[in-house]
Amino acid sequence: MHYAENILGTIGNTPLVKMNKLTAELPCLVLAKYETFNPGNSTKDRMALKMVEDAEAEGLIKPGGTIIEGTSGNTGMGLALAAIVKGYKMICVISDKQSKEKIDVLKAVGCEVVVCPTDVAPDDPQSYYSTSKRLAEETPNSWYVNQYDNPSNTKAHFESTGPEIWEQTDGKVTHFICGVGTGGTISGVGNYLKSKNPNIKIWGVDTYGSVFKKYHETGVFDENEIYPYITEGIGEDILPENVDFEVIDGFTKVTDKDAAIYTRRLAKEEGFFLGNSAGAAIKGLLQLKQHFKKGDIVVILFHDHGSRYINKIYNDVWMREKGFLE
Ligand code: PMP
Repeated sequence: MHYAENILGTIGNTPLVKMNKLTAELPCLVLAKYETFNPGNSTKDRMALKMVEDAEAEGLIKPGGTIIEGTSGNTGMGLALAAIVKGYKMICVISDKQSKEKIDVLKAVGCEVVVCPTDVAPDDPQSYYSTSKRLAEETPNSWYVNQYDNPSNTKAHFESTGPEIWEQTDGKVTHFICGVGTGGTISGVGNYLKSKNPNIKIWGVDTYGSVFKKYHETGVFDENEIYPYITEGIGEDILPENVDFEVIDGFTKVTDKDAAIYTRRLAKEEGFFLGNSAGAAIKGLLQLKQHFKKGDIVVILFHDHGSRYINKIYNDVWMREKGFLE
């Protein structure tokens, strides 16, 4: 008999899928690391489990305790799965920009969800950074995860996602590309792949309204780069410790409109029913086409599933309201 001991045993070992239509104009092979096969439908299951296991090992969380995190949804889902299996309570602090589906999904797996306004500075007491920290201080026997600065986030991808990509491509991968939020995915995968072959290029996809690209290019944290944007899951108005700017060769920025349109194209043209950051990632890859040549093997990681965006990206009325559809 072959079975997992519990749902956490099904995390990881996701497939690599060749892209055929959207990348037809490129000279290289493009392979998608298809992370929605994780049980919580996103790559964040990997780092959520790793952060909880490491916190247990360090004695930061005790039986019956409460896990608290400021999360756009996917990390919350991963943490919720770990909390259910391991017997913890889970509070997710989320910004009001996030889709209603993400909030409903978190409630479905037993999380308490606290919604905070998006358009306030990170140090504003109402922001989801400040609210999560305050709740952690007020709740006895609680542990504040802080995925932005928690090194177990990057470690999870160094220990699982990176090695999987290396093995699935027989060590032939030449480029790795993904969207960057906390930075855990790109830094963990990037450091692992470069430890195997330092010539592998690592590209991050950023969004307009976020500080990453400018900071990478100039070393300046430019507040003028910060403004509200629609793309979910990538870009930041802070510099998370999990973004290892050294391992990243470059960033490309994708507009909200392109991210939305390319998310829909992935579904219709490849049968890849994915989230908003996947559209940004594939458009970013196409923007970098001058960097790819024949024989290159480019791996792009898609973070989450389309079901969480049904009333947004996949809804024509919403798309027209935002000016993304004629
Ligand atoms: N896409 C989505 C949908 C996400 O939820 C996240 C996590 N914020 C990312 C991309 C970025 O991943 P990371 O935090 O590892 O940089």
